[in-house]
Amino acid sequence: MYQIIIIGAGPAGLTSALYALRANKKVLLLEAKAYGGQILTANSVENYPGIEKISGVDFADQLYHQVEKLGVEIKYETVLRVESDKTVITNNGKYQADAIIIATGASNRKLNIEREQEFVGKGVSYCASCDGTFYKNKIVAVNGGGNTALDDALYLSGIAAKVYLVHRREEFRGENKTLEELKKKENVEFILNANIVSLNGKDHLESITLKDQSENTREISVDGLFIAIGQEPKNEIFSNVVDLDDKGYILSEDGVHTKTEGIYVAGDTRVKLLRQLTTAVSDGSIAATVAIREMAKN
Ligand code: NAP
Repeated sequence: MYQIIIIGAGPAGLTSALYALRANKKVLLLEAKAYGGQILTANSVENYPGIEKISGVDFADQLYHQVEKLGVEIKYETVLRVESDKTVITNNGKYQADAIIIATGASNRKLNIEREQEFVGKGVSYCASCDGTFYKNKIVAVNGGGNTALDDALYLSGIAAKVYLVHRREEFRGENKTLEELKKKENVEFILNANIVSLNGKDHLESITLKDQSENTREISVDGLFIAIGQEPKNEIFSNVVDLDDKGYILSEDGVHTKTEGIYVAGDTRVKLLRQLTTAVSDGSIAATVAIREMAKN
């Protein structure tokens, strides 16, 4: 029996754990993969107040060790189901708590084209800071127009011989400052208004085929493709205890409570205006504080 079970050990979940442990609560943190969540894929974080520059991996490590020192109990198990009586069923067991915080974040969106899965680890990657080093002096493409794609392209321009930045529109969602830096890089070529329609190669990715708005296709040779086209939540397993919007994000009127008493939400997995590190840790601290206050009343 735990007082609080937190599902997801990304920045939101770890921050919830930090607040709950400092309030002397018995906490179980459940994580399916590795602690850190999506911030692990950030090459450099430069917009976190008070920290000028830090790698995503270092941030995750420091936050984890801060929580570890407080004696967090973490189990690497996959949550299969959550019941309204605050039971959590995983691939390995069944746990009971007074409160549950869902902080499962979101996972990388797939292009959903043929051979994408087959080429993962053989030319296709969703994480430039993890896999970029394998493309020293090679030719790579980055797909996407958000901050992740721009950051990845900039990072890879310092490793690869050539970087194509492929985006389906003319305008970028990512920050202008990074875009301007990218434009100065001689080894970065922008391919706009284009979609990737096929991935080609024998045992490893060798080229990608692009289609423009006039339906013209063109094939470019690449050794690697970094897909950075955003994230998607995976909240279907919680649909018995929370409401989801049409994209699968958890609905919460005040950004903390769900439709089930004692089940709270934090971080990227909820409907929100801004999905960043700052808002994830903010959510984590609020969810734990609200859960603790409400537990005290019951
Ligand atoms: P994002 O902002 O949602 O951008 C996704 C990009 O991928 C968009 O340009 C989108 O195109 C494109 N896209 C989506 N689906 C596509 C598809 N099926 N085929 C081709 N292109 C597709 O995602 P993100 O860049 O991963 O960023 C997520 C959040 O993290 C954002 O809030 C971002 O600001 C934040 N972030 C911040 C930093 C930083 O501050 N340093 C770094 C990384 C991420 P359209 O524009 O046409 O929709």
